[in-house]
Amino acid sequence: MRIGAHVDPAEPLVAATARGADAVQFFLADPQGWKTPAPHPDAAALKASEVDVYIHAPYVINVATLNNRIRIPSRKLLLTHARAAAEIGAKGLIVHGGHVNAGDDIAVGFDNWRKTFAYMEKEGGPPLPILIENTAGGDHAIARRFDNLARLWDAVGEFGAGFCLDTCHAHAGGEELLNIVDRVKSITGRVDLIHANDSKDGFDSGRDRHDNLGSGKIDPDLVVAAIRAAGAPAIVETPGGVEGQAADIALLRERAGS
Ligand SMILES: [Zn+2]
Repeated sequence: MRIGAHVDPAEPLVAATARGADAVQFFLADPQGWKTPAPHPDAAALKASEVDVYIHAPYVINVATLNNRIRIPSRKLLLTHARAAAEIGAKGLIVHGGHVNAGDDIAVGFDNWRKTFAYMEKEGGPPLPILIENTAGGDHAIARRFDNLARLWDAVGEFGAGFCLDTCHAHAGGEELLNIVDRVKSITGRVDLIHANDSKDGFDSGRDRHDNLGSGKIDPDLVVAAIRAAGAPAIVETPGGVEGQAADIALLRERAGS
């Protein structure tokens, strides 16, 4: 069982050792910005490392929106980050499902996802798996509720899209965690990565505030069960710095018995 943490992009391998992590996730550029990532100074070490590397795409990316001043640059930035992530040997690029605006037809949002994968294929294909992550909030989200996830997969499944399941987002988004991986797999056929987070907020609150495992509203055993059922690596995106994340990783290892 590979368990890691979301860490600062500076010296991710040092951060992994400090946390007892065998996987790391980080941003290659400001998550709120549109900048092309600069080459990572530790690229060679990251590529050679035993530590699994995952890259999270910027939050500004929304390939689903009908607003083409956001959608077109989002598409391009997604592929740019995919290429930069592949340069450092990353195993996947995580990107949020995005949303359409109120009043817009969500069917177009799903089709915009299809067009995004078609665009990447035309440009030579993404050089690593693109893992679409479920999100917590909003009434017009592409990947909050699983009825929409099924519509998304009708659009992107044929391109080999991957899936990242965030336990905080699922709980706050209104999806029960009991047997959640089976439900996701019946739609997507795969779960590539678990974001193992507790939630400060209640079920279906629509709020996205991560908490340390056992400190929030989620039974940690449901998180462990999701990791086990997925058979996928897990990343904690939890507060508390080195200490908080090391404790979360230790808790997962202990309860999962590995
Ligand atoms: Zn997440």
